[in-house]
Amino acid sequence: MTATAWAPPTERLEQVRAFMAERVLPNEDVLDREDDEADALVAKLRDEVREAGLWAPHVPPEAGGTGTGFLDYAYLNEQIGRTVWGQLVFGCQAPDAGNAEILHLYGREDQKERWLQPLVAGEIRSFFSMTEPEVPGSDPTTLRTRAVRDGDEWVIDGHKWFSSGAEGAAFGIVMAVTDPDAHPHSRATQILVPADSPGLRIEPVPVSGHRGRGWTTHCEVWYSGVRVPAANVLGERGDGFRIAQKRLGPGRIHHVMRWLGQMQRAFELMCSYALEREAFGGRLADKQTVQNWIADSAAEIQACRFMTLDAARKIDAGDEARVEISLIKFYAARVLNEVIDRAVQVHGALGLTDRTPLATMLTHARAGRIYDGPDEVHRMVVSRRILKTFAAGGAWRFS
Ligand SMILES: Cc1cc2nc3c(=O)[nH]c(=O)nc-3n(C[C@H](O)[C@H](O)[C@H](O)COP(=O)(O)OP(=O)(O)OC[C@H]3O[C@@H](n4cnc5c(N)ncnc54)[C@H](O)[C@@H]3O)c2cc1C
Repeated sequence: MTATAWAPPTERLEQVRAFMAERVLPNEDVLDREDDEADALVAKLRDEVREAGLWAPHVPPEAGGTGTGFLDYAYLNEQIGRTVWGQLVFGCQAPDAGNAEILHLYGREDQKERWLQPLVAGEIRSFFSMTEPEVPGSDPTTLRTRAVRDGDEWVIDGHKWFSSGAEGAAFGIVMAVTDPDAHPHSRATQILVPADSPGLRIEPVPVSGHRGRGWTTHCEVWYSGVRVPAANVLGERGDGFRIAQKRLGPGRIHHVMRWLGQMQRAFELMCSYALEREAFGGRLADKQTVQNWIADSAAEIQACRFMTLDAARKIDAGDEARVEISLIKFYAARVLNEVIDRAVQVHGALGLTDRTPLATMLTHARAGRIYDGPDEVHRMVVSRRILKTFAAGGAWRFS
């Protein structure tokens, strides 16, 4: 493999890094308040990002963005991920980024015009409505929300929760069972549902550490006889799982890219404070336990970075990279939590206050071990796939 195969988009990376350092991070306190002033600031910063030609780096120009592939995006998104607000400012926020990708891949032209274009332009927001309270999100073949065909319409009945960003969104992509007697992975269909449809009710679920206004909400959604045109199906009927896989794979690696920014930021705070704080007659930086945390964190962050770049490179080459994505999803979630936790520990009581971003980062990081598939499920996927290859006489190796 040549060195250029991993080359970063140097100029854009520098622009993104500078924008985050000069315009976003110094304003984090205002953005954290999630009030009208924060909303106005987000709008202003978004305009500046557009003017700089850095808008929506997750999708290519034909979908309205400035993206040039997963590998480049991995480098940019690490910088964007240093604060949770970066993704909103750059127009690549979850869950809209994943929704835009599947609309770009599977949407018809009229669907793209109605939903994708304003979504990527940042004029509207969306939600992805799959998980249900009554059945395990880890095993979506058990979903109960039904869509029944009635003439030229689908009638949707069901109950979802943790539909992120649903408050104030213009539409949702809903996973509903349309063919209950089909093979478990062909039962569900993805359907585009306007959020103002009669019979649809949205209420935020209070999630610890997520203040909850508009984009930062995780919502419970009730669908009671919600009617949408038959043409609102995304892709083909019965293709819900195949499309979800296309959405969740890239979505997982998008999360990990941003987590790299969180890990790196926590690591830098840990190092700075260790050099500054003294205890028992010397700097924390001179205690071997702290040195071990710094060394372990450096090694683990770099491992996560290379695993992410490797998966991104494979996706760019047309590979689904399912093992690589599952590997990095559970491994990076653990490293993320451990690095931030070590940084909190080095800061002592200060680490639990709002005078550093660490306590908030830790709360957000904990959710990373659950959303888009809990650690245990990704471990299961990885080991099953590897064992299957071995059982067939093959081996799993780096390529
Ligand atoms: C912050 C946040 C945002 C989210 N956003 C969205 C969203 O936008 N849209 C959406 O549809 N969903 C969303 N989710 C839901 C998320 O995807 C689910 O929570 C996740 O898939 C797990 O499902 P569950 O919570 O029902 O847990 P369950 O499936 O009930 O699992 C509970 C626990 O059981 C264990 N477990 C499960 N399977 C196994 C196994 N095979 N082996 C060993 N242990 C196992 C795991 O420890 C797991 O944590 C979000 C969740 C969070 C926390």
